[in-house]
Amino acid sequence: MEVIEHDVVVVGGGAAGIRAAIAAIEEDPNVSVAMVSKVYPMRSHTVSAEGGAAAVAREDDTLEMHGYDTVKGSDFLGDQHVIEYFVEEAPKELTLLEHWGCPWSRNEDGTVATRAFGGMTTKRTWFAADKVGFHMLHALFQHSMQFDRIVRYDEQFVTRLLMEDGAVKGVVALDMRQGEVRLIRGRAVVLATGGAGKCFPFTTNGNIKTGDGMALAYRAGVPLKDMEFVQYHPTGLPGTGILITEATRGEGGHLKNSEGTRFLVEYDYGLGTKAELGPRDMISRAIIQEIQAGRGIEGPYGQYVHLDLTHLGEAKLKERLPFVLELARTYVGVDPVTQPIPIRPVVHYMMGGVDTNIDGATDLPGLYAAGEVACVSMNGANRLGSNSLTECLVFGARSGRCAVAFARGASAGDEASLRAQGEEEAHRIETLRGKNKGGETIAGVRREMQQAMEDGCGVYREQGSMDAAVSALAQLKGRYADLVLRDTSKVFNTEIIAALELGNMLDVAEAVAVSAAQRQESRGAHTRRDFTTRDDQNWLHHTLCHFDPAGPRIDRKPVTLGHWEPEERKY
Ligand SMILES: Cc1cc2nc3c(=O)[nH]c(=O)nc-3n(C[C@H](O)[C@H](O)[C@H](O)COP(=O)(O)OP(=O)(O)OC[C@H]3O[C@@H](n4cnc5c(N)ncnc54)[C@H](O)[C@@H]3O)c2cc1C
Repeated sequence: MEVIEHDVVVVGGGAAGIRAAIAAIEEDPNVSVAMVSKVYPMRSHTVSAEGGAAAVAREDDTLEMHGYDTVKGSDFLGDQHVIEYFVEEAPKELTLLEHWGCPWSRNEDGTVATRAFGGMTTKRTWFAADKVGFHMLHALFQHSMQFDRIVRYDEQFVTRLLMEDGAVKGVVALDMRQGEVRLIRGRAVVLATGGAGKCFPFTTNGNIKTGDGMALAYRAGVPLKDMEFVQYHPTGLPGTGILITEATRGEGGHLKNSEGTRFLVEYDYGLGTKAELGPRDMISRAIIQEIQAGRGIEGPYGQYVHLDLTHLGEAKLKERLPFVLELARTYVGVDPVTQPIPIRPVVHYMMGGVDTNIDGATDLPGLYAAGEVACVSMNGANRLGSNSLTECLVFGARSGRCAVAFARGASAGDEASLRAQGEEEAHRIETLRGKNKGGETIAGVRREMQQAMEDGCGVYREQGSMDAAVSALAQLKGRYADLVLRDTSKVFNTEIIAALELGNMLDVAEAVAVSAAQRQESRGAHTRRDFTTRDDQNWLHHTLCHFDPAGPRIDRKPVTLGHWEPEERKY
């Protein structure tokens, strides 16, 4: 078995992973960093981000305002010291990215242009037309290439963390190109593996977002935090789930029901004058309520409402939202210049993730996490759009630096013991190859898992449906052992990868359902029909979900408050 040695192993080549790798080198140019990714880095989900990245830039804006908006958006579940650090670092990180080549759109006078985004009091979302993720990832990836000491391992699928004496010592990776398993040793590991939207049937997330890093950490004993908070984005294309960016509303788009009424203005959904510029959780609920009130429009994929951009004019749409024009024309045959776009709420983002502190450190020595895989607790119960890309930079950088500091004082571990873990893992993977017995298919189990999640953990939830999801998932985990795999090849055996991803998603989905079923209140994205209000008395705390072979175990962790006092969340 091939054994490779580095100081720090970063798992993930999206915004958080690349930023962490660069930060590690900035911290110590002599450190050697492995950057492992299951896809070529430019194919990471970050590339598909459209709308923008938030940071204070304008004179009418302040760090205090960005902090308050984020705390309020989180429904007071975000940790305030983390949010304060985030808003301070955000403008520095976005400026740094410009120096690395990110072409932020400009105002006439040459200053950085910013657009409005949901739940933000002023225009503070930086953008590069509506292809922000592409430009950010490109700038990061190009910048990373100048460092010889960042060694890339593309198309390598990490399946397990290497452990010794209760500390992390690297990872086991399956080389997807050749089918070989190798050890990538490191004295610290940063997980930057992104989210887990694929646990649901209808999502904006790419197929690779299967919660691998969450499952790796969870099985190694690190709790998953606040998993019940799953963000629905209000505007996905019916059928595919392709995202129509919030920038459409930031630029002035309107949501309309079957009667052509701007329902966020005409009916009281608690959004006040914010209307279309309200936060995602509240707008998603309003759309579902419109549909339930009989004011939806029937289509081949169920009921939807309209996103109307026609009043913005072709010139503005072409300049600011060219990708939206392309997506609507290609995927729903609608020209936004003259016709409204059909949209419905769609699973978009996991507020929860691997429990970390402000350094990105977990309770497992040597293990760090940043980006969507992590829950550093800045998004609380609801993330504000455009905070996530910036979060990847701010906390990617911090965890990269902290991982280097940790690695300095840590041992590399005993090779024989690490090798033995690798052999065990290679054996587990080998038994999957062409495992031609069993009665379950990958697609069948995955479909049932996704359906259970949609039925139990959708925009609106109640005890009975969440409990049903919990038991369905426990049962599906049992059936997973009975999967049949037919492909015996070694080169790009995508069936094995799909099976490993499904195993990860089942663990993550179960953590979501179990965390949701126990929280008896409505807060942010967790909206219950049977407990309709927020209950700070009993529930102003984070949920921790621990892995246990007998079934997930729930625990709680205090929220770090600060000078923003919890108050009713109204806009
Ligand atoms: C369509 C869309 C549009 C969005 N638009 C915006 C926006 O405008 N503004 C905003 O702030 N946020 C936006 N978001 C959210 C934001 O883009 C993501 O949260 C963020 O990009 C996540 O970055 P990341 O680095 O954490 O993970 P990702 O970019 O998802 O990267 C994960 C990396 O981990 C690797 N990986 C995963 N599992 C393994 C494994 N087992 N082994 C090895 N490698 C692995 C992958 O190969 C990949 O390189 C959007 C999200 C979507 C889906």
